[in-house]
Amino acid sequence: MASAISDHPIKTTCPYCGVGCGVIASHEPAGITIKGDSQHPANYGRLCSKGSALAETLDLQGRLLTPQIDGIDCSWEQALDKVSSGLSSIIQQYGADAVAFYVSGQLLTEDYYVANKLMKGFIGSANIDTNSRLCMSSAVAAHKRAFGSDTVPCTYEDLENADLIVITGSNLAWCHPVTYQRILMARKKNPQLKIVVIDPRITATCDIADLHLAIKPGADAWLFNGLLAWLNQQQVFDQAFIDHHCEGVEDSVHAALAGFDTLSALAERCDLPVEAISLFFDWFTATEKTVTLFSQGINQSSSGTDKGNAIINCHLYTGRIGKIGMGPFSITGQPNAMGGREVGGLANQLAAHMEINNPLHQQLVKEFWQAPNLCQHEGFKAVELFDRIDKGEVKAVWIMATNPVDSLPQADKVRAALNQCDLVIVSDCMQQTDTMTLANVALPALAWGEKDGTVTNSERRISRQRAFLPPPDNVLADWQIICQVAARMGYAEAFAYQNVHQIFDEYARLTDYQNNGSRDLNLQALTGLSAEQYAQLEPVRWPCLKHQQADLFSDGHFYTASGKARMMAVTPRQPLSLCDSNYPLLLNTGRSRDQWHTMTRTGKAARLSGHSLEPVISLHPQTAIGFALNDQSLVEISNANGKLIARCHYDENQRANQAFMPIHWSEQFAANARVDVLTHAHTDPFSGQPEFKQTAIAIKPWTPLWQGFLLSKRRLTLAECKYWTRTKSKAGWLYHLAGNRAVESWSQLARNWLCDDHGSEWIEYQDQHGGYYRAARLNQGIVDSCVYLTFGDALMDSQDDPQWLQTLFTATPLDKADRMAILSGEPAKQTEDPGPTICACFSVGLHQISKAIHQHKLMTVEQITAQLQAGGNCGSCLPELKKILQAEQLKNLKT
Ligand code: SF4
Repeated sequence: MASAISDHPIKTTCPYCGVGCGVIASHEPAGITIKGDSQHPANYGRLCSKGSALAETLDLQGRLLTPQIDGIDCSWEQALDKVSSGLSSIIQQYGADAVAFYVSGQLLTEDYYVANKLMKGFIGSANIDTNSRLCMSSAVAAHKRAFGSDTVPCTYEDLENADLIVITGSNLAWCHPVTYQRILMARKKNPQLKIVVIDPRITATCDIADLHLAIKPGADAWLFNGLLAWLNQQQVFDQAFIDHHCEGVEDSVHAALAGFDTLSALAERCDLPVEAISLFFDWFTATEKTVTLFSQGINQSSSGTDKGNAIINCHLYTGRIGKIGMGPFSITGQPNAMGGREVGGLANQLAAHMEINNPLHQQLVKEFWQAPNLCQHEGFKAVELFDRIDKGEVKAVWIMATNPVDSLPQADKVRAALNQCDLVIVSDCMQQTDTMTLANVALPALAWGEKDGTVTNSERRISRQRAFLPPPDNVLADWQIICQVAARMGYAEAFAYQNVHQIFDEYARLTDYQNNGSRDLNLQALTGLSAEQYAQLEPVRWPCLKHQQADLFSDGHFYTASGKARMMAVTPRQPLSLCDSNYPLLLNTGRSRDQWHTMTRTGKAARLSGHSLEPVISLHPQTAIGFALNDQSLVEISNANGKLIARCHYDENQRANQAFMPIHWSEQFAANARVDVLTHAHTDPFSGQPEFKQTAIAIKPWTPLWQGFLLSKRRLTLAECKYWTRTKSKAGWLYHLAGNRAVESWSQLARNWLCDDHGSEWIEYQDQHGGYYRAARLNQGIVDSCVYLTFGDALMDSQDDPQWLQTLFTATPLDKADRMAILSGEPAKQTEDPGPTICACFSVGLHQISKAIHQHKLMTVEQITAQLQAGGNCGSCLPELKKILQAEQLKNLKT
């Protein structure tokens, strides 16, 4: 591991989600430590499991450390020349719209700013879009329609001051854990605070719900339109606010009433108990201080913009916006999705919240940048962009810090599109990603810990991300790479930045340029900072004006032409992917608790991998039984787009005929579990956001001839495995394996996998009749790897959690007893088996928790925490601890 660049603790920001937690990196004798920043207003010291494990992701293993052309190492000169000449010649031959950038919410604001400036101001196309398109562009479109600007009107303090929080389309407990914890704390202080969770699944977030509405997937607009109609019928609205500050009121209420008959009819449409809807409506009606928090469950829909507006309508109608403790609150997925939106990282906007289709904005940006080729029309949004690549219309794409081969819908089609694209440039910190394998030019970029700049979180708070590690040799920051390419393309003067401070200053000045209150985003007070002031910048929420602090919307002023907010007439629509006899199940996709995106970083931490060792598809037991699927068996999932294999997990928290799969598995971690191979490219007509939450699928058993697992200190490539998964473990790497072809020689296959060579020692055991094979490879008596296989489709006892075996992976030779143990499959010594990880922060397993409950007669989750620490840091596992406690107490009652 690299050492820190300073002996002093350095304050920076977590690189994962949009909560934007402050962290402190310190150089300790044992290495770098990461802890929460108690001063940062996003988290006040708290971190979730992912943030807590950041120090385990800092090594250089797997990093791209030198530029490459067609897979061969080259100099930066060669790589940059290839990129700039490749882009220039395609532009010359086919025009500016034949090239594109596909960027990421992982970029810092300064990186994003120069990428956008190069494409929109100098190349002359708006073909720069971002993976943020996939997570919250429907919220952006809804904001713009309602407010005339992409303004998030709420802050985290609003959650603490609310009396009712409606969480819809978000498993906040897992996806934004620190915000969830903040709500939990708010409820402790204010026992009157009511929480409603609207989600088709019973998720960990429901643990704090006073009311859970397990809504029919995709019916959200019906529900919020129904609420608007109900508010109208009950005469609950803010007449003065709508008279002075809203337009479109009549049409939107009319549209809502047109689809609303009775509460019972609405309940039927949403597949909810009428009493539950009635209670929700009563609470909303009676509670002025209401925050409606929404996220991907709303946005990732072919009608996500309308759903966002249906929510916003209810707040505008009741005047519950721009005041403390109330408002519609879109929570962003990525660490800098907001920064990207601010500097214009989407194909349908200019920088600094200015619009491509606004002639005045065009003129301002052109003037300010002295741009020779300002784009004249919108570019291709993400899904369409890759479609245009597929059609050969876009001939060069530069992908920065993202993995579209896994994260875009119809992911195999995206891969095929990139495969035949003339020029694919990929800048990333990691060498092995599914997208990087398709790069003509690979550019090594700095990783978190080495990067310097700013990010903006969900509540519009700008924080510094500061470097605390030295940059590896031969690796550059994204902004440096972009500026060097720009210079080679003939734009050296406009991209002659020496550091990120200069870029930030230019961006801040652009937000203030002829603004005069006409645009929401203004960083006037941050213009002209000295280098020292920029270096020391404290977290600050925009707008930042020099002489007044503007509270957005508190004066009822919005950024539409009339200055009034627009209520939008919404006509709810069904999801576009519907079940039929061929595809009878509806698949929902989302996040796991301890992983981030395609696991390139979180996949490095063993303690984060323990919570979810294999790709699972969760189904209600009755649904699974209907398809002849056993719990923990392997299943094949398919539709017209492709096929996957995953392990079936019986889960009573799923609705009937629904399934859920996580988004994280790439081909770097599993043979066949990229869930977006299945999702359709159905998009919202306003935002272009894909419908990731509803995909019709077929499912059937996938019966292997053999299964097993393998532990290795080395990362291996496995042949002959139709099914394999790879996760980081204390031993090195843990693989789960299965195959459906007969194997002639187990011994030969195992030797092929574990790279047996003459210098190593090979021990093995085979029970042909019993159907077992076990082998280990040792170097001078020290175990390097071992494999356990069983014939047939039954799982081995130890398959789920081979913890005792991992304890044998040390630097000392095995003794006789342990050599026997490795072949017999039984531990030689009594060891405590902690069981599958429940608390990732303190590495506490299921068996440890169960044992402690019995041994110490624990009656509450707080007592478990006091005994084992589990749940005492980020709290993400508290709902699971509660479940384990209930299950153990039930067992006690029965015995
Ligand atoms: Fe990072 Fe977790 Fe905070 Fe999100 S909630 S910013 S992942 S520590």
